[in-house]
Amino acid sequence: RDAAALDQLWREVGHWLEREERRHGPGGRTLDRKTFLRRLTALAAESSLPRSPAGPGRVRVLSANQARHLEADYVFILGLGERSFPRLTPPLSLFDDQERQILQSADIDFGAGDLLPEEMLLFYQVASRARRELILSYPAVDQRGQELLPSSFLLAVRACLHPDAFKGKVEQRRMLIQGIDDEPLSAAEIRVRAAKNYKAGGLDDPALPTDLRANLQDAGKLFENRFESKYHNAYDGLLRNPAVVGELTSIFGPERIFSPTALEEYISCPFKFFLHHVLHLEPLEEPSEEIEVTRRGQAYHRAMARLHRKLKASGVHGPTDAVTQDVTREMTEAVEEDVRRAPSPAAKELWRLEGRRLVRTAERYVAQWRKFLKPWLERGVSPQPDLFEADFGLPTADGSPPVGPLVVRIDDVEVRVSGRIDRVDLVELDDGVGFWIIDYKTGRSGHYTGKALSEYSRLQLTLYALAVEEVLLAGRAARPLGLAYWLEGEGGPKVALPGRAAAQWLDDGSRWRTIREDLRQWVAVLVRNIRQGNFVLQPREENCTQTCSFGQTCRITQARGVGKEGMLSLPLAGDEA
Ligand code: SF4
Repeated sequence: RDAAALDQLWREVGHWLEREERRHGPGGRTLDRKTFLRRLTALAAESSLPRSPAGPGRVRVLSANQARHLEADYVFILGLGERSFPRLTPPLSLFDDQERQILQSADIDFGAGDLLPEEMLLFYQVASRARRELILSYPAVDQRGQELLPSSFLLAVRACLHPDAFKGKVEQRRMLIQGIDDEPLSAAEIRVRAAKNYKAGGLDDPALPTDLRANLQDAGKLFENRFESKYHNAYDGLLRNPAVVGELTSIFGPERIFSPTALEEYISCPFKFFLHHVLHLEPLEEPSEEIEVTRRGQAYHRAMARLHRKLKASGVHGPTDAVTQDVTREMTEAVEEDVRRAPSPAAKELWRLEGRRLVRTAERYVAQWRKFLKPWLERGVSPQPDLFEADFGLPTADGSPPVGPLVVRIDDVEVRVSGRIDRVDLVELDDGVGFWIIDYKTGRSGHYTGKALSEYSRLQLTLYALAVEEVLLAGRAARPLGLAYWLEGEGGPKVALPGRAAAQWLDDGSRWRTIREDLRQWVAVLVRNIRQGNFVLQPREENCTQTCSFGQTCRITQARGVGKEGMLSLPLAGDEA
């Protein structure tokens, strides 16, 4: 029956393609993934199999709509749960917002109206088709085991009759295996029964076919490893199979270039790194009209890079009053580019609103720049913006030779790291070149702290500093004087390291030298673990499932429930709290 349903869906997809070709020519048109998925879901929800044929002793499985005019001795109505029947939400639409607007402007309205009367009639018709017996049922728990409520229709039926009418007639099962003690009728029931009794040797039952017994025994081992063993194993991301480890060593070998973000992801949770960078799982995008934070950030980055390139080319190295006009112009232009690219009138309008906010932040930029310079000017040092969107270890767009990656070598471990640094400010010192790393951020200040850098849970800015020192300014005796986040919405520059005493590294470079060595060791530890297949479920955040993109599919709750032990220790070298 599943195969027949799939064939039916496939036929519907074929009709859809024919209609598209009639409207848009051969091959139809290209749809983005969100639209395609929405339409496919709508199609799957509405396409149904034809009625199975009637006949003595046959069980016919029909939708309520197909069954409403058919009589039968016994009628089973399934799925009488709250929100399932009556279903008061209209079916998914095949049309997108723009198409619906066009139809509405032509006075064609697909509004669903009040669905309750139609659902009541449907229930009445189906329930009154039984000649001898009517069986009503609803799922008592959902797929997560949470209790579900019965439909208002089911409650209404019960209210019609005296409570005694149901005596001995209501049966409740919370699990498939609960209360089933009669002869198993299908292979699925045999499997479930054997699994239920597996501790009492159910999986070794010689009455079972050999292949089924072998499969059940494998399933038993899987169950023990996943739900009973207190130690991490392959099901929790601890990969020990030599072939798998060999493959990982080759995929993540010395030629592999890591981004700081990927390494940070490994630190935040090795299992998350595994899902994302080894299995390449990606969460499905939720259709949303909101301006994505990343796109807003990109507009800000574009505007800032263009601004400073132009200022540098015209010999402006500091925050003069005239810069406010320049930054406003660049920000407006960056926003307009996104307005032009926005796919719908609503999205364009959202971008315009967002643009006004970004332009307002631009008006504060000169004051923020002055704030950043103040402690340095007091020391007679004048940082000048010099490198913008500076890449290392990344391919170039115009085919010019790329700048090489940062290479970290510790004992037998060699790691390559790439990145794009938003801005590097420079100053000539007596003993070489001093530089500042500046990273523009659109998020909240609390996410970007010096503590996270000095305890090495975040690596981006420190790795950037190492890359400037060893790659971008190699041979110029360069050393960092400050690592700063530039928070566009929250006051501008925030010197994460060395922290409040912003000019500390000017007099004393020893702290940076310590950080640099710890950082190298730490990066080597991380990559050695990756190459050895250590991807244990070990999130740093207790409530990680609320923010992690894999929160819905991850088995951390099960692992915690079993009280898994033997966590890999991820050494932290930082000593600044
Ligand atoms: S939900 Fe938590 S444990 Fe699971 S992958 Fe995400 S961060 Fe890791």
